Amino acid sequence: MSDCLFCKMVSGEIAPDKVYEDDDVLAFRDINPQAPLHVLVIPKVHISTLNELDEANASLLGKMYLAVKAIATQEGVAEGGFRTVVNCNRDGGQTVFHIHLHMLAGRGLQWPPG
Ligand code: 5GP
Ligand code: ZN
Repeated sequence: MSDCLFCKMVSGEIAPDKVYEDDDVLAFRDINPQAPLHVLVIPKVHISTLNELDEANASLLGKMYLAVKAIATQEGVAEGGFRTVVNCNRDGGQTVFHIHLHMLAGRGLQWPPG
């Protein structure tokens, strides 16, 4: 999608601070980190929100979580732990409409979230 910020990162038009990449998934550091480690994991194909997930693209979610696992080991937070979050639409607080998984680590995280 030509006017999508995260698609521009996939195409290379914008260069993110990349931490992981494979054929299907890209991960990079959030520009406004909410924890010492704050990575966004995205599918390379454009999916706007979790509401657009279907049988044809659902396997991408598993691939995104395999990327999280690899990043946790790479960044040294697997044992200490981390949180993953996917925001959806207004009440979820979604601001970029290309599905992405937040991976937060490096400090104790509160529950419930605000
Ligand atoms: P959302 O609110 O949609 O769940 O999360 C969007 C995230 O994208 C936010 O945490 C925000 O800081 C991050 N973000 C917005 N613009 C950019 C950017 O240009 N580069 C990077 N790396 N992250 C961005
Ligand atoms: Zn996109």
